[in-house]
Amino acid sequence: MRAERHYLDCNATAPLRPEARRAMLDAAERGGNPSSVHAEGRAARAILDTARRQVAALAGLPPSSVHFTSGGTEANNWALSQTDRQVLAAVVSHDSVLAVAGVGTLETESNGLVDPETLKTRLKTSNVGMLSVMAANNETGVIQPLEDIAEICRAHGVLLHVDAVQAPGKLDLAPIAAQADVLSLSAHKLGGPAGCGALLVRPGLDPVPLIRGGGQEARRRAGTENLIGIAGFGAAAGAVAVQGSAEVARILALRDALEAQLRAFCPETQVFGADVQRAANTTCIRMPGVPAETQVMALDLAGVAVSAGSACSSGKVTPSHVLIAMGCGEEVAGEAIRISLGWATTDADVTACAAAWQALWDRKKAA
Ligand code: PLP
Repeated sequence: MRAERHYLDCNATAPLRPEARRAMLDAAERGGNPSSVHAEGRAARAILDTARRQVAALAGLPPSSVHFTSGGTEANNWALSQTDRQVLAAVVSHDSVLAVAGVGTLETESNGLVDPETLKTRLKTSNVGMLSVMAANNETGVIQPLEDIAEICRAHGVLLHVDAVQAPGKLDLAPIAAQADVLSLSAHKLGGPAGCGALLVRPGLDPVPLIRGGGQEARRRAGTENLIGIAGFGAAAGAVAVQGSAEVARILALRDALEAQLRAFCPETQVFGADVQRAANTTCIRMPGVPAETQVMALDLAGVAVSAGSACSSGKVTPSHVLIAMGCGEEVAGEAIRISLGWATTDADVTACAAAWQALWDRKKAA
């Protein structure tokens, strides 16, 4: 018998939603190329159009705003290529923003927020053409003050890119999209498949292509569309829209209950970003004196999947640049784990996580 698992790593990849799975199976069975004029091609085109409408509706934008990509990374890379002037990105941004050549960083305050006054000063004194910020941080869930940021960008004639990859299902996407010139999404963070995403572009802006070739995506993103992935993305976006704020409230209640339990077990714990607005599903929490990798392994053995608050792509664990930017020392940052809930999270998952965390903390105290 398979041991019971409790998956609380939804900011890495959310479980596939049944609606997405069904749409993907249907698209896989139909086949066809949306650029073909015959019946099979037209059926494929209809799948593409439906998905485009579903993603656009979630963002409150017209379908023509949506350009499908191979994921959030491509959408971010593409977004940042829209200016000849410098791109400035909040230092807590995702690596798919920070690693783009020439990107300068904008420091944040110790709570992870961009300070509007600091931003104004930077925009006055440098040749910035675009600012990139996240709607909600993938490690801490911290939500940026987008309205203020957007107003400052408009006043300085600077384009605003919003990496909203972690927003759907946790925040209302339409008010976020309303502030952005360009906005990135990724299907696997909202219950669709990995390897599919979108760049949403404000009506009136004509984005310069990053990937050139055929005429797909209104000649703006070449390459035969990942129809199966896109079908799943659209269906997942549709499901997020249907679940709406009631689901966000459910997840928030679970997250807050979990945090309250962990704080009760260990009053000296630290929840990063706790004193500002955060996405409903994310907790970045420290167990003092216990390395994050030890916590992740102990929880995994107890059937609970979470991740270290540090980046460990390619197996090399480095302290989280997000927590370092928030003023943590390397040791503190190295003791933080990220617990991220999602549409499939139940009371039982949270209970199991709290129990496993408490057991480890009890062992640490006894040692
Ligand atoms: N932006 C944020 C905030 C993310 O969390 C991620 C994924 O972790 C990405 C971008 C990259 O998205 P993808 O995995 O679809 O390339």
